[in-house]
Amino acid sequence: MKEKIDVLVIGAGPAGSISASMIHKAGLSVRVVEREKFPRFVIGESLLPRCMEVLEDAELLEAVKAKNFQQKFGAKFLKEENVADFNFSDQFSKGWNWTWQVQRAEFDLTLATEVQRKGVQVDFETTVTAIKFFDDESSVTTVQRLDGSTEEIAARFIIDASGYGRVIPRLFNLDKPSNLDPRKAVFAHVKDIHRDNFDEPNRIIAIMYAPGFWTWIIPFSNGVTSLGFVGSFDYFNAIPGDLSAQYKACIEGHPYLKKRFGDVEWVWEPRKLEAWSATTDKFYGKGFVLTGNVTEFLDPIFSSGVMFATVSSHLASKQVIRKLKGESVDWDTDYTKVVQQGVDVFRTYVMAWYDGTLEKVFFSKNPDPLIKSQVCSVLAGYVWDQTNPYVREHHVALKRLVKLIDVNERISRN
Ligand code: FAD
Repeated sequence: MKEKIDVLVIGAGPAGSISASMIHKAGLSVRVVEREKFPRFVIGESLLPRCMEVLEDAELLEAVKAKNFQQKFGAKFLKEENVADFNFSDQFSKGWNWTWQVQRAEFDLTLATEVQRKGVQVDFETTVTAIKFFDDESSVTTVQRLDGSTEEIAARFIIDASGYGRVIPRLFNLDKPSNLDPRKAVFAHVKDIHRDNFDEPNRIIAIMYAPGFWTWIIPFSNGVTSLGFVGSFDYFNAIPGDLSAQYKACIEGHPYLKKRFGDVEWVWEPRKLEAWSATTDKFYGKGFVLTGNVTEFLDPIFSSGVMFATVSSHLASKQVIRKLKGESVDWDTDYTKVVQQGVDVFRTYVMAWYDGTLEKVFFSKNPDPLIKSQVCSVLAGYVWDQTNPYVREHHVALKRLVKLIDVNERISRN
């Protein structure tokens, strides 16, 4: 076994790269192990402005800027003839008013390459298979390479950023079922040749297609667009045919989608993902912290995944640095509660999307500009701004607003 390193990071997705960069910047030794060969496909292409602060502080922003990804200035929601357009420039909270729509293979490769360029060892095609923790919180992790060879890595601390791999929760039985209904997504990248006749590319568009069934449209800067459908298993089961036939039927079944994508080529055949919501008993333990998707992933509707991956990793690595430099860390207060608070805000909005509450809010006639700006800040990922009542009182604020909208609509009808 080689010398003990300060921090082992599992996974080179956005969460892993942010952590590695932060730890390295603090002068501690860090190594990343990643199961796949990069570039590799992963879903999660629409970012939120809140990510930008983290990319900047981790000194990874410039590397991403150089890639000329599609800029994203807002989010648009469509239902039949109704349109709700949120421009991040109008948001209530102070912060970034734009971000990117990215092909994740390229985005994640850019981050990992920049981390390597800074001097961090990143081992690809290297899978964590076992971890042993000791009383002093240090650990020995066994990794396996493609050729079957193994290595043991001794570390003072582990940051688990393994995303859907959920390495530590799986190895130590920490997984807990999510309280959100299981859903499925079917998606592909398509050649968006009619783009200029439709909406501007600088937004994600979410179409409320049918109750509990929706579509994402995420244009990239190279003329390709990510087009995906999300809904219940029952909804998809009722569509005949294989995945490609179902995908085609979903395009054909909606007038906007049929016109824009009915005759376009797919860059690759549709793929599916199922039942992704997951959480865990705890976000930290003796010798480790979980970040990114390993903590909790809710739902794709508000593109919060990469934002949580980067923000949680940023915060976790700051605590790891403090700890390894001899400070005491209250993980519950300094980490779990903070991440959980943001997750809880988004959970409220995800549930409100699926139970119809948000539809009322988004498509209300003459929306109050202040309230719209406050909801816009949530959609931009500023879910820790306690001056925003739609963050602070998220449990009740949307319900209260819907009641008000109902009363106003009744008055204007009479
Ligand atoms: P990942 O990006 O998954 O990276 C984890 C890395 O760990 C992987 O590269 C993996 O290979 C590696 N790994 C796993 N196991 C091991 C192991 N044993 N050893 C070593 N390495 C390992 N988010 C958004 O922000 N915007 C969106 O538009 C969006 N759309 C989505 C649509 C769908 C249908 C779904 C399901 C999710 C979507 N997400 C979206 C969420 C997004 O995919 C994730 O939140 C995001 O990728 C999490 O980043 P991460 O760094 O935590 O994990």
